[in-house]
Amino acid sequence: MDIISRAEWGARPPESRDVTTWTKRTAFMGHYSAASATQTPRQIQDFHMRKRGWADIGYNFLISSTSGVIFEGRGWLTIGAHCAGHNTPAIGVCVIGADKPDVQDVSDAARRSFKWLYEEANRRKGGKLTLLGHRDRGATACPGDEIYSWLKAGLPIVGQPTPAPKPPAGSKPAPGTSLAFPLPAGWYFGPASGPDYSVSGLYERYFRGRTDRAWLKEWAIQLGRRGWNVGKGRRWLSQHGNDGIYGPEYRALALAFQRDQRLRQDTLIGVNTWTAAFNNPVT
Ligand SMILES: [Zn+2]
Repeated sequence: MDIISRAEWGARPPESRDVTTWTKRTAFMGHYSAASATQTPRQIQDFHMRKRGWADIGYNFLISSTSGVIFEGRGWLTIGAHCAGHNTPAIGVCVIGADKPDVQDVSDAARRSFKWLYEEANRRKGGKLTLLGHRDRGATACPGDEIYSWLKAGLPIVGQPTPAPKPPAGSKPAPGTSLAFPLPAGWYFGPASGPDYSVSGLYERYFRGRTDRAWLKEWAIQLGRRGWNVGKGRRWLSQHGNDGIYGPEYRALALAFQRDQRLRQDTLIGVNTWTAAFNNPVT
């Protein structure tokens, strides 16, 4: 499994850091953010550093409760700030999201990621870390009842990975090579006037080793492979061509594609609109 590195999610450098050893690591502690599942690691880091006055984001790792994407926090051996008095023995992992009663807030993908991270920690230690919820060591409701009971049950995985839907008769499989969505969970390609996680290509930020512009171009090239008439002087992106800078022309193309694929028509190129271009059959 992939861990989105600090560089990839645009972390601020830590004010300071203290490191421990695998010998001193004895526990793996689950947390939740108790806030919106769309919060980005950078927003959590800003909150921890500016409002709490901590040296860095408090957790060692974070996991999106919806997509299951894993983000590097302080990492394996840097001492965190997630449970007073237990930061040296415990690796703190935060599931980004809240616990609403009677709903499964933590997706199967997020559960698989959490379990994978736990097993990876055991592998690196060469021994078994004690699985804990924050409430086992502090007066808190964290990590919420859903995660806590799952932790205590030993992280059972019940859901199987969702099989790819069968293409309808007469359709062709998606052309080209599938590219994974390059932005962090909850981010999207969208206008420059949007928040930090609206990636326009205007500022040439780097994600997974390439610029946002290069990635946005890949998406439009893929639409071309799917038969969309894309490029300068063509039906779509006619004025500026496929320049990788999100503006009204990409907006119109995204909306048309979302209509065609019966996706949410929000004009933004997030994980669903990205993935549909690479994985959905051409109908
Ligand atoms: Zn906690």
